[in-house]
Amino acid sequence: MLDSTSHIKGMFIGGEWITSARTFDDINPSTGSVWAQVPDGGRVETRDAIATAQAAFPAWAALHFQERAKILLKAADVWERRKMDFVAAAVAEGGGWFGKGMFETGYVPEVFRAAAAMCYNSIGEMLPSQHGKVSMVERVPMGVVSVISPWNMPGILTSRGFAFALAAGNTIVLKPSEDTPYSGGLYFGEIMEEAGIPKGVFNVITCSRERVSEMGDEMVENPLVKGVSFTGSTPVGRQIAAKAGAHLKKACVELGGKDSLIVLEDADMERATQAASFGSFMHQGQICMSVEKVLVHESIYPDFLRQFVARAAKLKTGDTADQSNVIGPLINDRQVERVKFQIEDALSKGAKAVLGGRVWDRFVEPTILTNVTPDMAVWQDETFGPVAVVVPFKTDAEAIALNNDTEYGLSAGIITADENRALEMSRKLETGMCHVNCSSVNDEPHVPFGGSKASGVGKHGGKWSMETFTETRWITLDRGGRPFPPVF
Ligand code: NAD
Repeated sequence: MLDSTSHIKGMFIGGEWITSARTFDDINPSTGSVWAQVPDGGRVETRDAIATAQAAFPAWAALHFQERAKILLKAADVWERRKMDFVAAAVAEGGGWFGKGMFETGYVPEVFRAAAAMCYNSIGEMLPSQHGKVSMVERVPMGVVSVISPWNMPGILTSRGFAFALAAGNTIVLKPSEDTPYSGGLYFGEIMEEAGIPKGVFNVITCSRERVSEMGDEMVENPLVKGVSFTGSTPVGRQIAAKAGAHLKKACVELGGKDSLIVLEDADMERATQAASFGSFMHQGQICMSVEKVLVHESIYPDFLRQFVARAAKLKTGDTADQSNVIGPLINDRQVERVKFQIEDALSKGAKAVLGGRVWDRFVEPTILTNVTPDMAVWQDETFGPVAVVVPFKTDAEAIALNNDTEYGLSAGIITADENRALEMSRKLETGMCHVNCSSVNDEPHVPFGGSKASGVGKHGGKWSMETFTETRWITLDRGGRPFPPVF
């Protein structure tokens, strides 16, 4: 099983492993120790990777679709054989619980297979024509797609970011997060190399946080780049989308969230508290769709709160090298500061911590806050930590208003015995996704995943990814039907 820095071979550009004179420290957030030394690339390497991806594009786009599918299917098989290497890296480099690593490593091959399946999908439509033309809509690959991925689910979010784009015939330059450069990037280089990806079709470049805007700007502004796939925070996503817009490039940006779980008075309490605990505390709340607001009908509020606290109190916090620690560290000191600030701000303004609240090193205990008011940062801003606020409501309309009281709109959950009522409510929630009798945390490789409002623009998954990562063209064949004005 992979456990040391010796696995870092360099950046993966043009099918070669390229070392760099500069490196940066890849930290194990549980211990603060250096897990790996990673190449700290810059503009030059980014240009090289883009140029090599551009050179590889025509042949990849022209390859028979079955051949592209075969490579993606092979990638799924290679991943499965090496799946425990990913888990080791996700635990050590990403600070994730072992069970989260197992879930993620099981999911990624499904992304590759769902992308391979899309190679067999329709790539266009026939339209009627006023003039009897053969009128076709064709979806064609764009060219080089830049993929920028986050650290929290480095396997799923990186694979989702590029696999469908590759299936559609685009070539890729991937930049993983500086917090998970191996599990979210260089490891994919190894997998795709072994799967037989032609040289230059898939490239991975890495850099430190200090050089990220240099690399990121080139990845968006370079004229050879035709599309951008970004998953990360809303502030950075806004900048990326603005830059892409200025260059009239297509960008799919999947951003932050402030999701609710709405618990109605007829809810199954076991299901509700489990959905709240899983949704709020899985991976220390560092999931874009984490439950950050638990909205509970006032008639069951005391009972719900007691049972939710009892359930969450059982979760152990500590170094994820110990598999019994379900709550690991936050990824970096910036995240710890943000979460600590939100807890302190809330407590200073009158909120009550009915569970947790303790912060040490990079660890934050599962924390449940009540008496939260809209003037508190924890109500307005994404927390991205193991902190849930529990708020009572009286009517469905009030629950909907509390859910919608945010700039974000990613996902939501509703727990009730009444599906019709939930469906009615779901239509009024300003979110891209909603799950009845489940937590807001849900994903499958073939579904339209994405948010509304400040949670993003564009969809990932299945045929929606294919729309995101292709250009639509209109082609006609005139068969002598369209008359021109005689004056011409
Ligand atoms: P982040 O925005 O700090 O970083 C995301 C990626 O952007 C990283 O690769 C980072 O290196 C890169 N980056 C940072 N600054 C950049 C710049 N100036 N130019 C180009 N690239 C730059 O986010 P994060 O901390 O890695 O991830 C957490 C955030 O991501 C949370 O807000 C979370 O909600 C969001 N997220 C969203 C989804 C989704 O699908 N909607 C999924 C996971 C995470």
